[in-house]
Amino acid sequence: MGVDWYACETCGETFPDCGDYVWCECGRHWCSDDCAESDGFRQEEDGYTPKGSSYEQETSCNYCRGEEFEDAEVLNLALELLGKSRDELAKVLKERKA
Ligand SMILES: [Zn+2]
Ligand SMILES: [Zn+2]
Repeated sequence: MGVDWYACETCGETFPDCGDYVWCECGRHWCSDDCAESDGFRQEEDGYTPKGSSYEQETSCNYCRGEEFEDAEVLNLALELLGKSRDELAKVLKERKA
């Protein structure tokens, strides 16, 4: 059995899955309670069911509560609203840097 390493969602520190760490049932991991709290992690005594999920979690954080979003998700929405593809924007960046 190997050891898996996780990266803290807040500070980026890596830690082994056999050590002490905090994780939310949505799959996010943090190296410490402080880091977890900064992402809004909390125990859900009455359970929490994320939107679009049929599975009730005993923990939640800003991400699975839909209060915070991944950069990639924000970017995808921006592209959709702009009606441009990522490649088109990359081309613009390229021209600007030329
Ligand atoms: Zn951390
Ligand atoms: Zn979560």
